[in-house]
Amino acid sequence: MNTIGVYTSGGDAPGMNACIRAVVRSASYYNIEVKGIKEGYQGMIENKIVNMDSSSVANIIQRGGTILKTARSEEFKTQNGRKKAFDNLLHHKIDGLICIGGNGSYTGAKIFSTEYQMPVIGVPGTIDNDLFGTDYTIGYDTATNTALDAIDKIRDTADSHNRVFLVEVMGRDAGYIALNVGIAGGAEGILIPEDAQDFDKLTKYFKKEKRKKSFSIIVIAEGDEEGGAIKLGEKLKATFPYLSIKTTVLGHVQRGGSPTVKDRILASRLGANAVKNLVEGESQKAVGIINDKLSICSLDEAISKHKDFPKELINLAEVLGS
Ligand code: ATP
Repeated sequence: MNTIGVYTSGGDAPGMNACIRAVVRSASYYNIEVKGIKEGYQGMIENKIVNMDSSSVANIIQRGGTILKTARSEEFKTQNGRKKAFDNLLHHKIDGLICIGGNGSYTGAKIFSTEYQMPVIGVPGTIDNDLFGTDYTIGYDTATNTALDAIDKIRDTADSHNRVFLVEVMGRDAGYIALNVGIAGGAEGILIPEDAQDFDKLTKYFKKEKRKKSFSIIVIAEGDEEGGAIKLGEKLKATFPYLSIKTTVLGHVQRGGSPTVKDRILASRLGANAVKNLVEGESQKAVGIINDKLSICSLDEAISKHKDFPKELINLAEVLGS
């Protein structure tokens, strides 16, 4: 292996820069050239490929977002698009790839690697924490801390006015952010896609006489079956018209900001381990951390399997919110 290409793809996540830095500096340690592919698969197709060295990644470990930028690419889902991408990689003599992204990015990497025998290692970079093969994904810790900070602030105003606040956090398919910030923020109710009974629990909670005038924080994942905070608010208002309900959608604020210590260390460990595995001849694998130890699984597993959702935390949320 002489030259590797690194790219970030799908949604951006705080800590991606720390991971890029780790990839570039580790490659330099092994005397391997690095090319940065800008804007994910779309940049691969459009030949947005630049040389990188240790100095290109100076002063980025603390920055949110991704210096390589990211994009979603419909064209990469076509054979024609992937052919263009491969020709560009050939031109730059890239003989291995490191893909930092989520499930969709892994799927693209796996298809491309099989089609063109291009070695690839995936690194889990998504705030949703919903990837198999790792306990934590890059960006999740920062996103939960950002959401928690907002909930703490909302709690002050909710308390002052005896209001019910419905706070929607990110998580299109998974409730990791909602469940964890809900517990950490002392929420009275948490609605996540993994719990089909959560609306009934909430109804039970509001039916208690003493709740009528008290304030509450309810956290809902954007992908919950109730359809997000606004729809949930309308439904609750119809059943409990006396409640003063306010709705907050935290949105993209959760994606930004300087990564936490945990995300910087995670990103550094995973980026370095991805390079090490690529150099050692591994391909179509995804790196991760399980029980604080470096781990690796096949891209196939990472794409198709679901990690066990922490049911214990669902029970804990119910007990503490009652
Ligand atoms: P996040 O979890 O943050 O949304 P993600 O990696 O899952 O990140 P996606 O938008 O699902 O984000 O995928 C990123 C890109 O991966 C897509 O825009 C597309 O270019 C590529 N990709 C996804 N699925 C495929 C596929 N079946 N074939 C080829 N490329 C794909």
